[in-house]
Amino acid sequence: MITVEEALTTILARFKPLPAERVPLREAWGRVLAADVVAREAIPPFDNSAMDGYAVRLADCVGATEAHPKALRVLGEAPAGRTSGLVVTPGTAVRIMTGAPIPEGADAVVMREETREAPERVEILVEPEPAEHIRRQGEDVARGSTVFEAGELLNPAALGVLASIGVAEVEVVRRPRVALLATGDELVPIEAELAAGQIHDSTGPALEALLTRLGAVPVPLGVARDDRAELVAKVQEATQYDLLLTTGGVSVGDHDLVKAVLGELGEMAFWKVNMQPGKPLAFGAVGQTPVLGLPGNPVSSLVAFELFVRPAVRRLQGHARVQRPRVAVTLTHALEKRMERRQFVRAWVHVEEGRYVACSTGPQGSHVLTSVARGNALLDLPAGAHRFEAGAQVPALLFEEGEAYAGRDLDR
Ligand code: AMP
Ligand code: MG
Repeated sequence: MITVEEALTTILARFKPLPAERVPLREAWGRVLAADVVAREAIPPFDNSAMDGYAVRLADCVGATEAHPKALRVLGEAPAGRTSGLVVTPGTAVRIMTGAPIPEGADAVVMREETREAPERVEILVEPEPAEHIRRQGEDVARGSTVFEAGELLNPAALGVLASIGVAEVEVVRRPRVALLATGDELVPIEAELAAGQIHDSTGPALEALLTRLGAVPVPLGVARDDRAELVAKVQEATQYDLLLTTGGVSVGDHDLVKAVLGELGEMAFWKVNMQPGKPLAFGAVGQTPVLGLPGNPVSSLVAFELFVRPAVRRLQGHARVQRPRVAVTLTHALEKRMERRQFVRAWVHVEEGRYVACSTGPQGSHVLTSVARGNALLDLPAGAHRFEAGAQVPALLFEEGEAYAGRDLDR
């Protein structure tokens, strides 16, 4: 049996970022830049005031105090959104609003709270520092500088930065299109009435949602019967996509044809990974398309998704960090491990007095999907040890934070 890390290393070695595409800025959130962005404009684009107050000449305000204020004649107002055209000459000041261009001649702004206002006159009550409350042109981003580099993630604030320098379109890594193929004679779509012995394809919709949440484009190919010709046709259809995920048929059952078909059509390795759940896993390629054959049990396939598919998809998307961060969590109750193998336990993690605490979400059988739905983390219990006491610290993979899981949220 190979370890989780060995499997992941082998998988990731076969993935690299997809080619670039140009998209409108509004669609670029969460994407990875495929090219450097050079600023054609500066931020701020002009010297402007950081305060509502008075644009003054330092020389006029030397020694100003509450007891000995400096009186200046007010020439007029500098509003945001246009140049006032006013020039601050010795003995004068201009009333200025936040964001307004600094009038010629001024070299500091005194905030309104540090003045006494009278009609057409203002008394300055403090001596300003040079350039005080002036936001300099290019202070945040200089014109001609590289604002973001290829490989950087476009988070919401980055979209704001790009908008501020007038970038309406960006080159980002293309979204991966991921084909999903469920296999099994017993599986029917959600809409179908169940006949004896049948079950609904439950993994398909869950994997679709996981892919969508990741920013990939899921392409459901439906359910293939455990039938050689049907499997061959579906797998061949999938070679036009960036990745194929199959579920089921990679174990040792009589009808586990996926193994045989994938092995025939492509270059595939079949692994037993030293973990529970999710032991059987297939990996390889058919044509140019990498294929990950996930186990059939819904829980196993979702755990395998977290451990192997998500990092592979993130690599296709160009992300530098492909794995979830691991955090130490404290168990609220003792946990027994059923087997020797490394076990991933579905858990609910929340913050108590500034630290992460975790409780199991219940029965951990590979067919019990509700305990995945009610969780927000996987505890990573190492091979060997069999019992973990309440209060013990174990590593955990946290799913997206701040999200509600099946009716709960992090405040509960
Ligand atoms: P298999 O590896 O094909 O033998 O599948 C293992 C178990 O997972 C069996 O109980 C299957 O019925 C179940 N299973 C396989 N695929 C799915 C699916 N897409 N949705 C729900 N259960 C599935
Ligand atoms: Mg099957």
